Amino acid sequence: MLLCGNPAPFVLLHWRLGADHAMIICVERQPERTLGGCRRRHLLSVVMNETIGHMQPAMIDPFGRHVTYLRVSVTDRCDFRCSYCMSEHMTFLPKKDLLSLEELDRLCTAFVAKGVRKLRITGGEPLVRKNILWLFRALSRHLGGGLDELTLTTNGSQLPKLAQELKEAGVRRINVSLDTLRPDRFKAITRWGDFAQVMAGIEAAEKAGLEIKLNAVALKGVNEDEFEDLIRFAHGRGFDLTLIETMPMGDIDGDRTDQYLPLSIVRARLMDRFTLEDIPLRTGGPARYVRVAETGGRLGFITPMTHNFCESCNRVRLTCTGTLYMCLGQNDAADLRAPLRASADDRLLMAAIDEAISRKPKGHDFVIDRRTKQPAVARHMSVTGG
Ligand code: SAM
Ligand code: SF4
Repeated sequence: MLLCGNPAPFVLLHWRLGADHAMIICVERQPERTLGGCRRRHLLSVVMNETIGHMQPAMIDPFGRHVTYLRVSVTDRCDFRCSYCMSEHMTFLPKKDLLSLEELDRLCTAFVAKGVRKLRITGGEPLVRKNILWLFRALSRHLGGGLDELTLTTNGSQLPKLAQELKEAGVRRINVSLDTLRPDRFKAITRWGDFAQVMAGIEAAEKAGLEIKLNAVALKGVNEDEFEDLIRFAHGRGFDLTLIETMPMGDIDGDRTDQYLPLSIVRARLMDRFTLEDIPLRTGGPARYVRVAETGGRLGFITPMTHNFCESCNRVRLTCTGTLYMCLGQNDAADLRAPLRASADDRLLMAAIDEAISRKPKGHDFVIDRRTKQPAVARHMSVTGG
């Protein structure tokens, strides 16, 4: 139960019970010194678990961080083979190991009952999973009933087909990964991607009325001469742009040291061209934002390598086989598939989630240098979901 972060005793004024959601309106009992002064109203949103029938405790890890954000990788497969993400010849999970969409819905619903307010569907490429719109439509029933946002990260290739239906399913904002604006470079980075198709996808998303944020991984010697163009392109269309440092996850065909470009360097270079003003915008993710005075647009920096953002981490990640990773950069994980399948009610599942959250580590230990040849974690980003 979430009590607005205020431990003072409350007087219950009114409450309303929906199918899976109770709204409680309370007035804080007035301490003497404020008697007669203004009374603060508290709107308490208490999400009740449908199958257990009682309120679920919020997820708070050993470091006092509230877990309110779940990322779900619905498939480890992808129609691209980005050079920093995958090797060209990947071995994917056997399809029989995947959770069904109904099981993913049940898991996500359990997390919403436990206080998750933002759900990001990712992968692999989430939009290549068969019938994925069913999951979006199903999960959208939680919007306004505990869940604030249902969103996705995509490479954009399927957006020409699916953008409109995603909008109709309740998605408001999407992240599209776009590391370059040059078709030949795009081919070199993604190996299998088609630049024109992704651009058509971005247009379809715009037309559908989806808010778009572009994500670009900063790659040394690959796209480092293009950030100004990417900024002008994104901001010219009213999109946010976020730059990301490459992280040492999974084997790729090559040495990551060759690709790693610290964003501290990128930022310093951009300051020769633009005026960057720090702004307090937080979107629930790890990006730190600036406003680019010359374009008026927002530019985010995700810096797991040069500036560890773990102290404010509010998220956990679920794979398509039901494994929960409490940290992107650590190997410790919890199996939620067994408790999910063991019983039709969610008691075992809730207990497994609580146990997992009690093990959420303080942070990751990413290092990229010439001496550290092995990736920090063996699994690829596409398994845990970026
Ligand atoms: N396929 C979708 C896409 O590319 O947007 C979603 C999954 S992808 C794994 C999510 C994000 O992770 C993408 O923005 C991608 O660029 C980023 N990414 C993948 N591997 C990465 C790595 N090793 N370091 C940093 N970012 C990575
Ligand atoms: Fe696929 Fe996304 Fe990884 Fe590129 S970054 S290979 S699009 S999962």
